[in-house]
Amino acid sequence: MPLKPFRPSIALVYLVLGGSFALLSLTFYVAGFQPLAERLREAHGQIIDHTLDSTRWLVQGALDRHIALARQTASRSAIRQQQVRYLAGKMDLADLRAFANPKLRDALKANEELLGIRRLGPDGTPLLQVGWSPDPLPEASRCTLPETGDQEGGVRIHGPFPLKGRQVLVYCSPLHGPGGERIGMDQLLMDAAPVQEILETPHGEDPDTVTLGVVTADGRLLFWPRGAIYQDARQRLQAHLAGNPIGDGIHIHYRPLASVDWRIYGVVHTRAFFAETNRQLWRLSGLLAILAALIFVAKILALRPIIRALTQMHHLTERAHRDGMTGLFNHAHMQQLIDREIERSQRYHSPFSILMMDIDHFKEINDTHGHPVGDAFLRHIARILKDWARTSDLAARYGGEEFMVILPETDPHGALSMAERLREEIARQPLEHRGQKLKITVSIGVVSCAGKAVGPSRTQLVRAVDDALYTSKRGGRDRVTQTVIDTAIPAGA
Ligand code: GH3
Ligand code: MG
Ligand code: MG
Repeated sequence: MPLKPFRPSIALVYLVLGGSFALLSLTFYVAGFQPLAERLREAHGQIIDHTLDSTRWLVQGALDRHIALARQTASRSAIRQQQVRYLAGKMDLADLRAFANPKLRDALKANEELLGIRRLGPDGTPLLQVGWSPDPLPEASRCTLPETGDQEGGVRIHGPFPLKGRQVLVYCSPLHGPGGERIGMDQLLMDAAPVQEILETPHGEDPDTVTLGVVTADGRLLFWPRGAIYQDARQRLQAHLAGNPIGDGIHIHYRPLASVDWRIYGVVHTRAFFAETNRQLWRLSGLLAILAALIFVAKILALRPIIRALTQMHHLTERAHRDGMTGLFNHAHMQQLIDREIERSQRYHSPFSILMMDIDHFKEINDTHGHPVGDAFLRHIARILKDWARTSDLAARYGGEEFMVILPETDPHGALSMAERLREEIARQPLEHRGQKLKITVSIGVVSCAGKAVGPSRTQLVRAVDDALYTSKRGGRDRVTQTVIDTAIPAGA
């Protein structure tokens, strides 16, 4: 089987260019952009973890400082000894106070966050009291003696309570006598402002992208930054704690604290949080798009000479196949098309027909109206021919005023009726010239092949159709003559 000649097409060049461009963009996206975006988002996750952890340690630090202070105050042995003596009835309360209060006041002075100290006896009666004492203290801040089995020296935290415009934490710390017996409680009032300040320190670019608060294990909100911008996050967190939907664009994380049953909660506004990353990613994709477009344009520019050569080649080939006056195929190309049709018909055993048409008394038109009118007639007939033909039909200007049409897949019956319709159409449409309607007729010869395995050659076909046309001319013109070839013609006939 002969190889088909390679015919480069412009469409193929553009297809390859477009394909490589798409591949390039896909590679950029899959290998570069997507992993980068994931890494950036991961890094953001780490920022949130870090913010939560550092806040947890800061809050923990503030509480530990308070607890250490409570333990320290409770463990002052001089006061304890006097208290044991008082409890044993060896000393009266006024003497105990005179002895202990100045010492407790020193402790108060030494620490800014310590607002007031109350010392209670084992039955809860107040014995000593220094510093700030907003009365009455809330019921929930009452210090009771720890149950037996409670951790020795265990300090309990109550609050925070809003007392006279302040947030106050109350630390209850048990007192033990020399033999380990419980001799009362210390009740320390501490300023909660340091914890509040930690939460109000901005944790991101915009203060409300990550909002942090302190919540008890059973879901009570203890500390939350003040200000209207934190209210939305607060509502979302409360919805979350109540087990209700929190809405879109919010992530909630938490970390437990060590010395108390509290948690640090972080409410993250994801859209605001990722805004900068997204901006950067958009900028990057814009740059990549420009880069890819530049590469594409550079490729086109580099390949332009090739594309232009291909285009010219395409046009030249087209022109070489066409008749300049009518735009129909020319005689030379028609020879190839006939060969191709014969081959196709033989391969698929399909019928086809060929039609040849000659204008009647055309010489008279030229003689009477001149050659330009004759030319106009040729174009007029070519137009009718194009309208009449189907897309698969192949029409050519075969000679001066002769036309030929290949009708693929058309049997004798179909070909005859098509030829009749063409003849009638031409007779029906005169050419308008200087207000005159110039009528013309054509004679047509048709050859129809049944599609036998061994069919006629091109020469035989052309001769047969020419003969049919001649018969039409002889028979009086303006008519169609058909020849049907339904058996194999012996070679050389
Ligand atoms: P009939 O075919 O009916 O026998 O008569 P006819 O007058 O058409 O005879 P014939 O086919 O022999 O004449 C062909 C004429 O067509 C001769 C020539 O002047 C004219 N002709 C051929 N090519 C062209 C062309 O390109 N332009 C013009 N105007 N005339 C052409
Ligand atoms: Mg002729
Ligand atoms: Mg003629």
